[in-house]
Amino acid sequence: MPKYRCNACQGTYNDTLRDGTVYTHACPPLPPDRKGVQPERENKRDENIVTLQSGRVIGIRSEGAGVTPLDAVRLPEPAWITAMKDRIAAAEQE
Ligand SMILES: [Zn+2]
Repeated sequence: MPKYRCNACQGTYNDTLRDGTVYTHACPPLPPDRKGVQPERENKRDENIVTLQSGRVIGIRSEGAGVTPLDAVRLPEPAWITAMKDRIAAAEQE
C-alpha cells in the first residue's frame, strides 16, 4: 500500500484502506479562531471525486499543495488518481 504525506496538512495516509477500498484524503478542518470562524486551510487538498450532473467525472476536488510519496514505489500521487486522469484524458480525445 503506497503511503503519502499531504503537503498542505502534513497528514500521512495509505491510498488504500485495509479492506481494499480506496482512501480519498481531504485535509481536516482547522480549529475555529476566537470569534468562532473556521479559517480555510491554505492549499487544502481534497481527493473526493467531482462528477458533473451528466455523470462525467472531471477529477478530484482540489490538488491543493500536492502529496509527497513516502515509500519505495515513489508514485507521484495515488495510482487511482493517475488512472482516473488517464481515463478523463482518453475520453476527451474521443
Ligand atoms: Zn491534507
